[in-house]
Amino acid sequence: MTKQINCGGVLIGGGAPVSIQSMTNVDTRDTDALVRQIDELTEAGCEIIRVAVPDMEAAESLGRAKKLVRIPVVADIHFDHKLAIAAIENGADKIRINPGNIGSIEKVKAVVDKAKERNIPIRVGVNSGSLSKEMLSKHGSVTAAALAESGASTLKVIEDLDYDNLVVSIKSSNVKMNYDAHMILKELTDHPVHIGITESGTPRNGIIKSVAGIGSLLLAGVGDTMRVSLTDDPVNEVIWARRILETVGMRQKAIEVVSCPTCGRTEIDLIELANEAEDRLESIAAKRKAEGKRPLKIAVMGCAVNGPGESREADYGIAGGRGEGLVFVAGEILKKVKEDELIDELIRLVEND
Ligand code: SF4
Repeated sequence: MTKQINCGGVLIGGGAPVSIQSMTNVDTRDTDALVRQIDELTEAGCEIIRVAVPDMEAAESLGRAKKLVRIPVVADIHFDHKLAIAAIENGADKIRINPGNIGSIEKVKAVVDKAKERNIPIRVGVNSGSLSKEMLSKHGSVTAAALAESGASTLKVIEDLDYDNLVVSIKSSNVKMNYDAHMILKELTDHPVHIGITESGTPRNGIIKSVAGIGSLLLAGVGDTMRVSLTDDPVNEVIWARRILETVGMRQKAIEVVSCPTCGRTEIDLIELANEAEDRLESIAAKRKAEGKRPLKIAVMGCAVNGPGESREADYGIAGGRGEGLVFVAGEILKKVKEDELIDELIRLVEND
C-alpha cells in the first residue's frame, strides 16, 4: 500500500478512495472565470482541481479563488521557482512541479522549504514528452523503464531535501508503455501515484485510451488519484473519470443499465428502447444518489427467450417480443405490456422504488 498524504482535506494514497482531478482551462488571472469553472467542475464530481500558474498575476488570482471554492487547489508550475513559492504563499493546497525544469538545486530547495513550512504535498514526475536528456541517452528512447526511473529519480531529488510529502506521476500517451512503467515504478516507491494517460486526444480517441490505460492500472491496484486528460471541456474529464471508477467497481453507480447486444431473435427496436431507458434513467439516478437510495440494476433485453434469465440479477427489467414485451421484477414476470408502453412501465417501477 502507498503512503497517505493530505491534499487540502482530501486524502491521497494509503487506501483512501481514488480521487478525481481535473485542470481548469480558463485564464487563471481571471478570478471570476476561474471560480466559475472550479464550481462547475466541483458540481460534476471533481475532488481536486489543478490550475496553471504561468505568472505572478495568476498566483495571486489562485489565492483569491482558493478562498471561494470548495475543493483543494493545486498550482501547476513550470520553470520559475518564484511562482511555486508565490502559489504556496497564496494558499495552494499542493503544487505540481518537475524539478528538472525548475533549474538549480538551490531553487528546488527554496520551493521545498516553502512547502515544508505549510506542510503541503508536492507532486513531481514526468511525462513521456518531458524526459531528461540523460534519461533519454541512458535508455536510448522513451521507454517504460525510462519513465519509471525518471519518476523515482525526481522523487529522490525532493527526498534528499528531507521532504516526503509527495505524489508522483509518470504519464505516457502510449497505453501499454504507461501500464508497464507503473508496474516498474510500484517496485521503486511507496509514494502515492497520480495516474492518467497524457495527451490522450479528443474524446474520439482519448476516452478509449483513458478507459484502457487508467482502468487497467486501477484493476492492478495502482493509482491513488487520477485525471482523464481530454482535448475537451474539463467537465467531461470529470464525468469520464467517475464512469471509469464506477466501471471498475471503485464507486457505486446509482443505476446500472445492462442491455443485450440484439440478435436474430430481436423483434422490437431494442436499440432505441435501450437508449431511451438510459436517457430517462439518468436524471432518476442523480436524484436517487442525492437521496441516498439503494443502487439499482436494470435489464433491457431483446427477447423473452433469454431475457428473464439474463436479467435475473437485475432489480427491474423488460424483455421484448413481437409488438409487446414482458416486465420483470427481480427476474420474475410482473406483466405483459404493449411495446410502446414498456419504457413507461419500467420508469414507473424505478420511480416508485
Ligand atoms: Fe438475442 Fe434475446 Fe439474447 Fe437479446 S436477449 S441477444 S434478443 S437471445
